[in-house]
Amino acid sequence: MRDDFLIFGSPALEEDDIAEVVATLRSGWIGTGPRVARFEEMFREYVGARHAIAVNSCTAALHLSMVVSGVGPGDEVITTPMTFCATANAVLHTGAVPVFVDVDPVTGCIDPDRIASAVTERTKAILPVHYAGRPCEMDRIQALARRHSLLVIEDAAHAIEAAYHGRKIGTIGQLTCFSFYVTKNVVTAEGGMVTTDDAEMAAKIKMYALHGMSKDAWRRFSDEGYKHYEVTFPGFKYNMTDIQAALGIHQLARVDRNWKRRDEIWAQYDEGLAALPLERPAPSAPGTVHARHLYTVLIDTKATGKSRDRVLNELIRLNIGTGVHYTALHLHPYYRERFGFAEGAFPHAERIGDRTLSLPLSSKLTNDDVKDVIKALHRVCGA
Ligand SMILES: *Cc1c(COP(=O)(O)O)cnc(C)c1O
Repeated sequence: MRDDFLIFGSPALEEDDIAEVVATLRSGWIGTGPRVARFEEMFREYVGARHAIAVNSCTAALHLSMVVSGVGPGDEVITTPMTFCATANAVLHTGAVPVFVDVDPVTGCIDPDRIASAVTERTKAILPVHYAGRPCEMDRIQALARRHSLLVIEDAAHAIEAAYHGRKIGTIGQLTCFSFYVTKNVVTAEGGMVTTDDAEMAAKIKMYALHGMSKDAWRRFSDEGYKHYEVTFPGFKYNMTDIQAALGIHQLARVDRNWKRRDEIWAQYDEGLAALPLERPAPSAPGTVHARHLYTVLIDTKATGKSRDRVLNELIRLNIGTGVHYTALHLHPYYRERFGFAEGAFPHAERIGDRTLSLPLSSKLTNDDVKDVIKALHRVCGA
């Protein structure tokens, strides 16, 4: 057994991250400023979208995307129950209602076959989640959206590096939301980004993220002369700071190197776990790039005689930290009580939610760390 606890989702911070944060502090400009602008420009180029707007979380990105799409009371947004609560909470924050449809049992992504029958005259948008970093079937989702005149707003919190049929995630739907939370593939402690090709939506997001104040309000204390601002909308306090962007700038420069390392770890897990009674992630669909955010296994509770939680706790005793992504969202108390959901509503999401376990996949892991995880799983789940 390893001596120290292997933390799930520990960020791979390096010296240039630290130096940039220190330089930001020494510059005296720690709020929204030049480093945020640089990070936005880098992200825009990386994804290949026309606009990228940095905010202080993916939750904020999702909420703003809903607001600028005109989603509000009386509207419905079709999404997946196999996600983090922020996805559907962002819909609720506007007064609209999330309408769940079940996921594909193998990929954990929203099942396009089920979207069409969930569309009503109140439906305003489809909100797919690229679960674990695997791109959803965007051709089919886009076709459905066109047929029913719906917007596509993507939750790409797991999917910075993902691509679908030659296009990066972030260039397909009207709006795409990314996360830089501590466990994500690019880390700014807290942070998010919206990408879009729509100039009008981009300008609104920028403004609404900072109280709805007129353009470039952050410059008003700069040496270019005092600028008065005007409030044009009761906006939010969702702006990213230069301290956060300082981390993002260097993390984004390393994003493909880190992806490659996680891809190597992925292959080591695939090989090392092949003999165990658990379902490993399905291979990537042809023509897609998986962002390698979460390596999720489904525990075979019959063959092992152990529940997922028992496996998880036995792994902790062997000093291996894991995660659960996710308990199906509709089974959380708020959603049960408000919408009357019970077990059986979305069986594929529930089956995943009951059995899934996410293994450590930080690019920081050594090959020995990976071997420790594999060995521990053999001890806990093996014959
Ligand atoms: C992390 C996450 C979010 C929220 O991101 P924050 O940056 O923490 O607000 C939203 N959706 C999914 C699928 C996530 O994993």
